[in-house]
Amino acid sequence: MVDVTPKRKIETQPARKETILSGMQPTGSLHVGNLEGALKNWVNLQEKYWMYLCIVDWHSLTAEYKDTGDLKDKIFQMAVDFLAAGLSPEKCAIFIQSEVKEHAELHLIFSMLISVPTLTRLPTFQEKKDQLDSYGFLGYPVLQAADICLYNADKVPVGKDQEKHIWLAKDLAIRFNNTFQKVFNEPEVLLTEIPLILGSDNRKMSKSFDNHIPLDYTEKQTEKRLLQYYTDPKKVRKGDPGRPEICPIYLLHKLYTPGHKQEIAPPCRTGELGCVDCKKKLVQNLNDALRPIREKRAELIKKPDYIWDVLEDGASRARHRAQNVMEKVRTAMKTNYRKEKK
Ligand code: SF4
Repeated sequence: MVDVTPKRKIETQPARKETILSGMQPTGSLHVGNLEGALKNWVNLQEKYWMYLCIVDWHSLTAEYKDTGDLKDKIFQMAVDFLAAGLSPEKCAIFIQSEVKEHAELHLIFSMLISVPTLTRLPTFQEKKDQLDSYGFLGYPVLQAADICLYNADKVPVGKDQEKHIWLAKDLAIRFNNTFQKVFNEPEVLLTEIPLILGSDNRKMSKSFDNHIPLDYTEKQTEKRLLQYYTDPKKVRKGDPGRPEICPIYLLHKLYTPGHKQEIAPPCRTGELGCVDCKKKLVQNLNDALRPIREKRAELIKKPDYIWDVLEDGASRARHRAQNVMEKVRTAMKTNYRKEKK
């Protein structure tokens, strides 16, 4: 049984632990790529660090600002998956970005400390500037820097491709400290090994490509999706030699079949193992691994009040920390007008 009793009184952060900030845009229920790329890592990190885990709904507006009708459900489904995957609301403050308004305040202050050309040179802007040319999109990395610095995070767990964003947060923290007085830690990257997870069409697993395996799929749906998967195109039938190293099914076996080096790769290469049998082994192993998460998910989804309570408690703890940091920011900037000594 899952303990879904709302826990309203949660202890505040123990001083000895370092702080980690991480975030994810609300995309609704999560998939195997999210599980392997982020959730499992966070579940481990929550044991060692104090974690702030932000569902960054304001960030999602940069692309979807006209289409917000399903944001609430997406946030809810995502929070359910966070908990089902093993994140503990007692070890990790899970909250919605827009429920801590200080994110917007620090974003505005940071936006004064950086030039427009610096932002337009960033690769993320260059890659998408033809589709997204709003001020919000330009300022996205500044809001991200504010998300990190608002909690005085010591570390931010990211993959190699995200390192630049943390560099910007560190740069803005230093600029602020040098311009006013020291308020911010200089956040460091906690480099995370993110396994490559490909979808059914051999592209990166993503909800937007509809090539993913959602955590809320039934076992039958998982089987159907895996049987549709791309494999080595040169292995047409059983007996043909295959190349596991280019096969997305083998990438999943690496994660879910402990004996893959002996049981899958050699018979694939000799042709002894056919793709259908290979996929069926994976269906079994993947469904076995996801079953506890799915069972927990099924229980949590029946307790919407509990999920919203977790998010509210998370926001309240996040706000407490953010307000403390913003007090220091205002004091450093001499904009704490009513508290300033005459
Ligand atoms: S046998 Fe398995 S690993 Fe080999 S190509 Fe087919 S699906 Fe991929």
